[in-house]
Amino acid sequence: MKNTTTRGILQRLSEGIVQGAEGYVFELERRGYIKAGPYVPEVVLDFPEAVKELHREFLRAGSEVMVALTYYAHREKLKDVGRENDLERMNRQAVRLANEIAREGDALVAGNICNTWAYDPGNARETSRLVRAMYEEQLTWAVEEGIDFVISETNDYLGEALIALEVIKQFGLPAMVTLASVQSNATRDGYDYVEACKMLEDAGADIVGLNCDRGPETMLPIVEKIRSTVNCCVAAQPVPYKTTAFNPTFESLRTHAGEQAFPLALEPFLYNRFEMAAFARRARAIGVNYIGICCGGAPHYVRAMAEALGKTVPASKYSPAMELHPMLGTHVENKDQNFRCFVLRRTWLPVSTKPTCTSHAMLGQK
Ligand SMILES: [Zn+2]
Repeated sequence: MKNTTTRGILQRLSEGIVQGAEGYVFELERRGYIKAGPYVPEVVLDFPEAVKELHREFLRAGSEVMVALTYYAHREKLKDVGRENDLERMNRQAVRLANEIAREGDALVAGNICNTWAYDPGNARETSRLVRAMYEEQLTWAVEEGIDFVISETNDYLGEALIALEVIKQFGLPAMVTLASVQSNATRDGYDYVEACKMLEDAGADIVGLNCDRGPETMLPIVEKIRSTVNCCVAAQPVPYKTTAFNPTFESLRTHAGEQAFPLALEPFLYNRFEMAAFARRARAIGVNYIGICCGGAPHYVRAMAEALGKTVPASKYSPAMELHPMLGTHVENKDQNFRCFVLRRTWLPVSTKPTCTSHAMLGQK
């Protein structure tokens, strides 16, 4: 089954920014279809309609890439949950679901491979062989089902990322390789994130950058350095959480009681849609080519980001029109030629000061 889009990822990137959307595992866990802990995408086989629905929501909200939900669908992880026998079926089905929904729009389908937890730089020779075999089998199935390019993501080790890149190139596909940035400034095998991205570019990656772990505040400064160092396309897919210089990753965020908020108690740290829209604009200003979102992502963010980038997407049909809200809008009433605006606490105002809430910083259009 091949998808039907005529413009590949590289052509789209040459024409402008490509928007992506991820966070499938996190969102489907919140919806009750994936078990937190192992985070294996069993939902692909157990509730395929739930996967299709989330693809469709991201598509309608403006994602131009349907990422096949094969994250952690590798041999090592499936062994942990006793579903190793479902490995091939799960991988093939995930790509089929992504294709089915991509055809509802003009979206690309990305195959997806990720960190395996099997790579060990201390035993690089033997573990590289294991990792390579896992990537090869996953991508063999993905290519047979039909993908446009591959996203290798949340790479903790440059060494593992380079194996992924080699395997992607064996299949002759465009490669987007992004690093996790859990540590302060270097991969777990000791390469500065910026230097690591340069090495990935030199090894043939088409798109390099960061995904997951960091919110926009702490991801963008690194991405800016990557942008000024590499010549290829750059991707930024942060998590929508308020990470800070003191707590630069969502793994390091702490609740008021001092407990780790990751991964199940992160809600108090969530960005709102306006803040994610601001991220999209900042990323564009820096020169990021592939702008997306990772764990914590949801359709309302994706739509706000798409609109911030100047697009009107299918879900824009239902974008906020706060001027029509009975309590918050610019709904005004005439009482002896005075108007009242509910956003200003129902105060009666003379006509001359009739407010226009469409230009309100939070409630207005843009
Ligand atoms: Zn993520």
